[in-house]
Amino acid sequence: MTDGKGAERGRGSAALLAEGNPAAREVLATLLASRFETVHTAANLEEALEARAGTPLDMALVAANLPGGAASLAMALRRDDAPVPVFLTGAPEDILAVLTTVSLPGARVAVRPFDPASLGAAFDEVLEEIAAKRLAEEAWDLTRHLLDDAPQPMAIVHAARVVFCNRALLRFMGLTSFHEFTARGLSLERFLADAPPQGGLAAWMRRLEEDPIDREHRLRLTHPDRPGQPAHVFQAAVTPLPGRDRRLLTLADVTELELERRELLDLANLDPLTRALNRRKLADVLTDEAARADRYGAPLSVVLLDIDHFKAINDTHGHEAGDAVLVELAGRLRATLRQVDRLARFGGEEFVVVAPGVGLEATAELAERLRQAVADKDFAATGRVTASFGVAERVPGEDPERALGRADKALYRAKNSGRNRVERDATPLTQK
Ligand code: GH3
Ligand code: MG
Ligand code: MG
Repeated sequence: MTDGKGAERGRGSAALLAEGNPAAREVLATLLASRFETVHTAANLEEALEARAGTPLDMALVAANLPGGAASLAMALRRDDAPVPVFLTGAPEDILAVLTTVSLPGARVAVRPFDPASLGAAFDEVLEEIAAKRLAEEAWDLTRHLLDDAPQPMAIVHAARVVFCNRALLRFMGLTSFHEFTARGLSLERFLADAPPQGGLAAWMRRLEEDPIDREHRLRLTHPDRPGQPAHVFQAAVTPLPGRDRRLLTLADVTELELERRELLDLANLDPLTRALNRRKLADVLTDEAARADRYGAPLSVVLLDIDHFKAINDTHGHEAGDAVLVELAGRLRATLRQVDRLARFGGEEFVVVAPGVGLEATAELAERLRQAVADKDFAATGRVTASFGVAERVPGEDPERALGRADKALYRAKNSGRNRVERDATPLTQK
């Protein structure tokens, strides 16, 4: 092994010289020593492999006729995660023999007899590449360090591939290193609580970058190995990075804010006892659904229901038991309704169901199922409870409150004809 004082830009650099011919080795060693800080010399394959194992190398100058086989050495240098750039020297036929045995993309060659000046210039070129690579690695190290210190989860995405996750994001995903992320074939999509955005996360990031004002910035993430835990809500920001198709995704955890926002919305929209929509929100829903029905030419119906003899229930079992009936009843109604139907508390013990997309007949059938859901099973607090139902279909263009008025008339008839029954609106079409 020869150590030489390297030129300024070769500081910290190391080269391997594998050459069987002592005279050639001496000349080449001198050329290399004036440029690389460390030069390991080897006379054969075995010595070369030993040097390779002991230290990181920036370049290897390999004689194509190396005793033991240049091709084997070249293969060893190429293998593993940090391949070493190879410089092949020798007679054209020897070089060719190596290159036909082992594929060495980017390998340089110097045909013997070589001119020391042009060979030196070629080494300088390699050194410049090494310096540029080092600089890029240092910049990358610095970037990684900065991102790792950030409290917000961050990822760098290149095209559609995640190339870096900072420590905060890894912690959220339950990982200790980015290597684990890639080794386990993970993707950010796997942590989404909802269906991925159209075109996948990378496409969504591109859209967000192009049009940051107009886009949905929220991502809900969960850990797939921790089901049952509530999703975290993140506010996402996308920053373009230098280089093509490379962006930084920064996530701010807004779960708490989101919960507060939900609570405020609930406070504004829901009846606190039954968690059915309150009357104010019902008015909004009716207006929206009426507009939608007219837009699509679809039917819209309403059901009004009122608990039978609720006053007596309160008197017999107490007001608290009455409250419990209201809660249980709302739960039974919800469980029976379709996903698109909306349940609202209209007043004390009166509820409204808004049923989009269905006409009078189908809604009367739905009301009948609701009636059974109430009447067919005892309530925990009071025993048997029944309710009466009025059903009406909105006429296109009609104020939905009017349809509700007609449902109320039908309900009145249900009460008068014995309660625990469903009555449909019977207003002639001309009077609606
Ligand atoms: P009907 O079969 O004719 O509907 O008889 P009803 O007794 O249900 O009718 P009424 O409208 O006379 O009585 C409604 C009662 O509902 C009166 C009121 O004390 C009670 N009520 C209204 N809101 C609540 C509430 O939030 N909790 C409880 N426990 N009772 C309520
Ligand atoms: Mg009533
Ligand atoms: Mg009542």
